[in-house]
This record gives sequence, structure tokens and C-alpha cells, in this order.
Amino acid sequence: MTARFPVPKLAPGAAAKLVSRRAGPETQRALGFPGELVADWETAAISAMREVVAERGGLRLFLDACMKCGACTDKCHYFLGTGDPKNMPVARQDLFRDVYRRYHTLSGRLVPWLVGAKKLTPDMLEDWYAYFHQCSQCRRCAVYCPVGIDTAEFAMAAREVMDRIGIGQHYTNDVVEKAARLGNNLGMPGPALADTLAGLEEDLLEETGAAVRLPLDDRGADLLLVTPSADFFAEPHVDGLIGYAKVFHQAGLRWTLSTHASEAANFALFMGSREHMAALARRIVEAARELGVSRIVFGECGHAWRVGHNHLEALAGPLDFLSRGRVEHVVEVTDELIRRAALALDPAANDHRRVTYHDSCNIARASRLGDVPGGQFLVPRRVLRAVCNHYVEMARNTTREATFCCGAGGGLLADDLIELRTRGAAPRMEAFRAAEVTHLAAMCAICKSQLARVFPEYGFDRDQVISVHHLVGDAIVLGARS
Ligand code: SF4
Ligand code: SF4
Repeated sequence: MTARFPVPKLAPGAAAKLVSRRAGPETQRALGFPGELVADWETAAISAMREVVAERGGLRLFLDACMKCGACTDKCHYFLGTGDPKNMPVARQDLFRDVYRRYHTLSGRLVPWLVGAKKLTPDMLEDWYAYFHQCSQCRRCAVYCPVGIDTAEFAMAAREVMDRIGIGQHYTNDVVEKAARLGNNLGMPGPALADTLAGLEEDLLEETGAAVRLPLDDRGADLLLVTPSADFFAEPHVDGLIGYAKVFHQAGLRWTLSTHASEAANFALFMGSREHMAALARRIVEAARELGVSRIVFGECGHAWRVGHNHLEALAGPLDFLSRGRVEHVVEVTDELIRRAALALDPAANDHRRVTYHDSCNIARASRLGDVPGGQFLVPRRVLRAVCNHYVEMARNTTREATFCCGAGGGLLADDLIELRTRGAAPRMEAFRAAEVTHLAAMCAICKSQLARVFPEYGFDRDQVISVHHLVGDAIVLGARS
């Protein structure tokens, strides 16, 4: 049975000051936004609201469907971590709903006091900026809502309206601008990437004696790997990249990375901007066509998978050149190889670790499940059980509904939000503590960065966070089949 996280004492306004930095004018303008709050911002925001709602059919329904039943109120980790009632999902939605009603419904215009309609005042705009950047778009509330209202849709819509009137969030705007200009979130140029991969190949040869390659822009490849750029250099990510390389090597797959598409992440999803999402998505399809591959495989990233699996065809298709008719996730590739007994594995190599698994919300909950047996909730667990003899499930993690966010998805991995991130991670941290394990495996770059950052705040060591493919890579017996 899934244990409930204790509901906190209400603390109105407790999270009002946990506000992330706003984007600078140059970054905003580079993305085609005004750069600073426009003079007639109220009129512009009202008009943008109408357009954004018209473009999002689901949101239009969600505006009217709420029964105020309260089922979502204790489902958000930011409410549980801060006690601020505006972080209850229904209250977050109402920040948008009440304003929309005031300007775009007859009752809201005629009798606003009767229907709870509110004006978009400067104070309301402050609340929008604060609380719509305190939603990690994890969709936990949506799966508990009897009518399926998705608060993440409100957050994305509100962020898009704010961008259009000149208020962007620094972190997401900056990352999207870099990825659009240079191909990855870190602003890493092609030669630096090539050097990094060559260095990793040398390390692997020295460590294992096997010539495991990490090819870049290889036109003879069948499979393009797109992965979060964090995988190229940072712990705990890079050992995951080494794990993918070992899997592909042992399976004899001809694969490559791409300079042009050296980023799987698509932060435009967090801004709610379909135009910018499409621009980043196109880089992946352009690279795949240019390299002549027949498979696109996403590395360990949650929202990249969601964009790739759910939206890539619509954003940048057709994907008719893909031999399987769709993109794949690296954990599916590994799972399929394990089930075909195509990998030589020694799970005892991980016997010094007792491992549990943290789901990426975007993989477990927000993505279509695809045609993989068991779906995205079960596949990583099947892989982990195959490579670890000591796998333990966390309480509060036994269904795709119940699993908790890391506390920093949805564009909230910003340094200036560290207090919110730490508080929002509380349900996950307590479940990890109760599991009494040595390691928390994760399969998303944002989750891994966030968990490693907040672990010390809860008395754990950041090295206890580990990539799923680090565990896979350690269990692979190189040389046994290659
Ligand atoms: S989507 Fe997640 S972060 Fe956003 S309100 Fe719902 S539970 Fe909270
Ligand atoms: S669970 Fe759904 S219907 Fe109930 S209050 Fe929350 S959003 Fe409204």
C-alpha cells in the first residue's frame, strides 16, 4: 500500500518570496519576446491569454471542469514542502482561471464578485510569476483529479503569456537561447565535444582494455543517440553515457552522436512555447536525416523523452525514415537486448550497492507508454533488477500515480530556487531514507542534478545518486561477446 506524505500546517505566503530570476532583455529579445514588460501589459496579457487558451484545447476544458472537490490539494510536493496554500494545484490553477474568467466570460465581465473573477493587477502578476514557477509540471495532481485536470497546462500557458508581455524566467530563456544558437544547453562547441568524447574513449580503453567508441557525426551509423549535454562531462551523468556506449559496443550496434543535435533536452516545453519547441526538435530530425540513420535513441532524460516520444512527429516530422516508426529510449534498447540475452551481464558487479529507483515524472507519468511491454514505469525496474542483485522499491513509489517529483523539473533547476527545490524534494528524500539503501538510481538529467544537489541538505552524500546506465555499464562483462 502507498503511504501518504503528511499534510503540512497551512502557511499562507510561505513560498511567495521563493522567486526565480527574470530573464535579461537581450536573452528575451533573442527569442523574439519584448525584452521588458510592455507598456500596455494588462491589455497584451489579456489578449495573449485568449490566444493561448484557443491554441490549447485541453486547457479550454480545464478552465470549466473543476468541481472544487479538493482531491488534488495535498498532491503537490511544493505544497507538502512549503505549506503555502497557493501551491495547492487547484489554487495554482485559479490564479489563471479567475483572471481568464474576468476578461473572457460574460459572467466574469458583468458580475465578477459572484463568479470569483479577478483583475490582472500588478500583485496578481507577481503571484503568477512566483507560483507558476513553482510548478515542476510533474502532473502528479492530474492523475489524482477525478476529471483529469492538468495543472501543468496552466503553468505552461501562464509562462507563455508572461514571455509574450516581456517577463521571462532567466533559467529557461537562457537555456533555450543557447540550445537554439549552439545546439546544446551548455553552449559547448563541436570541437570541445569531440575532445571530450576522445578523452572518454581513452579512459575506457585504459580501464577495461576494450576499444569502446563514442563516435561523433559518423555517417556510417544506423543509430543516432541524442542525450542531455550534462552526460558529456558531469557526475553523476557521464557514467551513464559510458554505460550506453558499453551496451551499444557489446550489442554490435553502429551508433553515433551528433554535433548539430548535441542536446536531447528541450526546455521550450517548460516555457510553453510550441514555436521554440519545434525549432529545437528540428535539430534532432535534421541531424538524423543528414547522418542517414534509421533509429533515433534518447539518452537518460525525462522531458526530452516526453517531447521526443509524444511530440517529435508533430513538431518536426515526418519520421517515416525510422525503421521502428518512432523514436526509442535508451532504457528500452537495453531492456530489449537483455530480454534477447544479447548482453553478457554480471549483476554481482553491483553487489556493493543496495539500490532503489526514482522515476522521472516525464517518463513514468507524462509520456505515452508506447509499445514497450510493461510501459515506461516497469521497463527501468526490469533493467535494474537484471543488473543489480539488491534492488529495493521505495514506499510511496509503487505506482506511476504515486511517485514523487525530484523537486526541480519544469525549468526549476535554477540556483536561485534552491530553497524551493530543497523543500519540494522532501517527500522523495523521506522515501529514500525509509528505504535504507545505499544508492538512488535515476534516469533523467534534471532529476540526477537536483538529487545530487539536495542530498547533502538531507544528510546524504551526493555520490549516492547514480545513473541507471552506470549500473548497467558496471554489470556488463566486456569481452564476453565483443
Ligand atoms: S503538476 Fe506537479 S508541481 Fe505542478 S501543481 Fe501539479 S503536483 Fe504540483
Ligand atoms: S482534483 Fe480536479 S476537480 Fe478536484 S479540485 Fe483539484 S483540479 Fe478541481
